[in-house]
Amino acid sequence: MSQYDFDLFIIGGGSGGVRAGRIAAGYGARVAVAEEYRYGGTCVIRGCVPKKLLVYGSEFGHAFEEAAGFGWTVSGARFDWATMIANKDKEIGRLEKIYRGIFENAGVKTFDGRATVKDVHTVVVNGKSVSAGKILIATGGHPVKPAVPGAELMITSNEAFHLKALPKRVIILGGGYIACEFAGIFNGFGSEVTQLYRGEQILRGFDDDIRNHLAGELVKTGIDLRVKTDVTKVEKGKGGLIVSLTDGSTLQADCVMAATGRRPNTDGLGLEALGVDLDEEGAVVVDEYSQSSVPNIYAVGDVTNRMNLTPVAIREGHAFADTVFGGKSRRMVYENVPAAVFSQPSVGTVGLSEAEARKRFGEVDVYRTVFRPMRATISGGEGRIMMKLVVDAKSDRVVGVHMVGHEAGEIIQGIAIALKAGATKADFDATVGIHPTAAEEFVTMREKVREPVRA
Ligand code: FAD
Repeated sequence: MSQYDFDLFIIGGGSGGVRAGRIAAGYGARVAVAEEYRYGGTCVIRGCVPKKLLVYGSEFGHAFEEAAGFGWTVSGARFDWATMIANKDKEIGRLEKIYRGIFENAGVKTFDGRATVKDVHTVVVNGKSVSAGKILIATGGHPVKPAVPGAELMITSNEAFHLKALPKRVIILGGGYIACEFAGIFNGFGSEVTQLYRGEQILRGFDDDIRNHLAGELVKTGIDLRVKTDVTKVEKGKGGLIVSLTDGSTLQADCVMAATGRRPNTDGLGLEALGVDLDEEGAVVVDEYSQSSVPNIYAVGDVTNRMNLTPVAIREGHAFADTVFGGKSRRMVYENVPAAVFSQPSVGTVGLSEAEARKRFGEVDVYRTVFRPMRATISGGEGRIMMKLVVDAKSDRVVGVHMVGHEAGEIIQGIAIALKAGATKADFDATVGIHPTAAEEFVTMREKVREPVRA
């Protein structure tokens, strides 16, 4: 019998913690978890899932407009925010029960409360000390607002899911994926949306063609996107919030949402006092096996700020459990992780951007196509799809695939398997397309783009 109450204590019942707990318990470990808010974590409660439900809801706004070209008369279509939010909350409540059930079915002891670490083998939760052989930090992150006067008048994604009413005029701050997604959500529901981003172009870190193309598409859908523009102050005015901008102008809004970054949840956990190294952002520094500088303390997911995506947190949690409790040495591989941005239109991406590929391989071949989706020919929509292949010229391996267009995430998921398997451009060429689809363009691009990478 071990000298500790549990073999593993997990702090945080989100994506990484749930997977690690279930798998470790499956190997026979005695596991406990503490969750201070709701089981399922950010993804299920106030991230991926409720966000995607809102995206689905808001897409109908555009679909009704498009329907006219196909002969439909959609009269009297009205949107009710309260119904959308109530139905979303019902679904999230259902999922939360499932996530709690995963722990209970696996025999994991659950503590509902905030946990802190007292010493390298002791966690305190609800005033009670609990000992464990290993501790896994899976506490995720939280949104941060810009440090400007009036920041307390802003909301973040956390509050956006619970607004009492749909704001008429919304200002979204930020150029990352969450900012782009919420700009699309509010726009689709009929709000007047201004998106402000202080940098040169939205979606920093993505392929430049994708960034530029998406920016143009967002504007076409009616979003007032302003780059190189930041907010300096927010005040309460008579007709709503008054937002001062770096260009000296002001805007009026009913809601200002900051999507300006997230910070790992390590404040007040007690980790520094134990000698656990944190980086300047407050993220737990870990090695490739998610082990911190204190050997029996591990960390997975957003709290490590490696690649902040749910499937990555899940895999890190799984690899941790396999390695530490399953006797199999496993680690997360961060190459060719596909991702989507559920903007409208959406973005799908896997592998390297053109700029990254040029840096790594020197000579790369680029294939790119921009075209009008078939659906738009009759609906009269202005949207254009962009698809791009980045190929290592020497080996012919496809090293990056990017898309802006409807259901880009669904399309890129399949292509990610090809990249993982090492597919070459010749393999893409030898693949028969599915006609008529947008996706078939990925196997019919023949002409190389002959221009240097954009800055
Ligand atoms: P989390 O899921 O955040 O779980 C951490 C848990 O720890 C939380 O439940 C928290 O309450 C709990 N906790 C924190 N501190 C303590 C403590 N001291 N004691 C007890 N409990 C504690 N990713 C995608 O892959 N696709 C998407 O489409 C996507 N959309 C997103 C949209 C939004 C708006 C946001 C904010 C995020 C989105 N993400 C998306 C990111 C994804 O949600 C995270 O990468 C993922 O949830 C990280 O999992 P995690 O286990 O590290 O942390």
